[in-house]
Amino acid sequence: MGAESKIKTGILGATGAVGQRFVQLLQGHPWFELTTLAASSRSVGGTYVETCNWKVSGDMPEPVRDWTIAPCEPGLDGRLIFSALPADVAGEIEEDFARAGYYVFSNSGNHRMDPDVPLLIPEVNPDHVAILPHQQRTRGWDRGFIVTNPNCSTIGLTLALKPLQDAFGLERVMVTTLQALSGAGYPGLPSLDMVDNVVPYIGGEELKMESEPAKILGKLENKAFSNATFPLSAHCNRVAVLDGHLECVSVKLGRQASLEEMLAAFRAFRAEPQDISLPTAPDPPIVLRGEDDRPQPRYDRSVGNGMALAVGRVRECPVLDYKFVVLSHNTIRGAAGASILNAELLKAKGYLNG
Ligand code: NAP
Repeated sequence: MGAESKIKTGILGATGAVGQRFVQLLQGHPWFELTTLAASSRSVGGTYVETCNWKVSGDMPEPVRDWTIAPCEPGLDGRLIFSALPADVAGEIEEDFARAGYYVFSNSGNHRMDPDVPLLIPEVNPDHVAILPHQQRTRGWDRGFIVTNPNCSTIGLTLALKPLQDAFGLERVMVTTLQALSGAGYPGLPSLDMVDNVVPYIGGEELKMESEPAKILGKLENKAFSNATFPLSAHCNRVAVLDGHLECVSVKLGRQASLEEMLAAFRAFRAEPQDISLPTAPDPPIVLRGEDDRPQPRYDRSVGNGMALAVGRVRECPVLDYKFVVLSHNTIRGAAGASILNAELLKAKGYLNG
């Protein structure tokens, strides 16, 4: 696709932790051309280099340094909008953009569980995008729509559960997370709360982890989502790691499986994004580690350019059937990269043509 036919793209919340990742990942994207950066009234009118406290490793990309920050209001140049807004403002702003005809890809929690909004992981439930014409009809939006990606820790967990659900079925799941500091945005938690410490509470996180996978692993039938029914219990902890959410998962399967079958299910997993070679799709989506002490955030969070899961320590569980460790990069696979992959899937399916 030539530069002239790329889809003009804006970022809402471009100065934040997730917004910065969008800026970084969209540089040189083959289908989407970044044209607009928007943020709060604190930043509007300033340049990106003046208003953004750049925290992503590597320098702020040269082309965007002098761009002027726009307000988060419809009228922005572009048709495709990535939203990295905080939940207290995202809901209404995202609806305003969709109503005005923009394709909105949201990272925030506001619309994830709406009955007409896909909560999308392209490797897991690509068929759920078929709800979009219904969303547009019921909301009276002619061109625009909202697609969401799950909570950062939900994405890692659900992507790891998908091959197991397909191969064996799932009866129950327990997960304990060790979540990175960047998951709380910048400046996030005070250093005096985090150094030499683990905080066993992340507001709202356990509820999201216990509800979102059921929608994603459920079915879309007759314009309605029917949730997967296995119970899931989550403990969520904040740890002093910069990037990369680690999750310790135990599963009870729907049928008996050998350890070899478990490993083969993870290893063989491929899905539509890999089959149609979406630009941001990791291949393979799950990288299996055989060492006793991997995955680890410092060494494994960038696997597949931060878009793949690292899964390791797959072993029998004396309480449920099996247990294993999952690692995913929270601001790439868990946020900006996930949203970009969602938009690529929608583009490939012809939803970004109108
Ligand atoms: P953040 O670092 O606090 O950034 C927030 C961004 O939103 C900034 O650009 C800020 O602009 C802008 N903003 C704040 N209030 C606004 C308002 N009233 N109107 C317009 N813009 C406003 O937050 P974050 O960590 O990037 O998270 C963004 C969203 O992604 C949240 O909904 C979060 O739950 C979700 N998420 C985050 C992660 C993660 O790993 N961090 C992962 C998945 C999902 P100013 O700079 O001008 O204030």
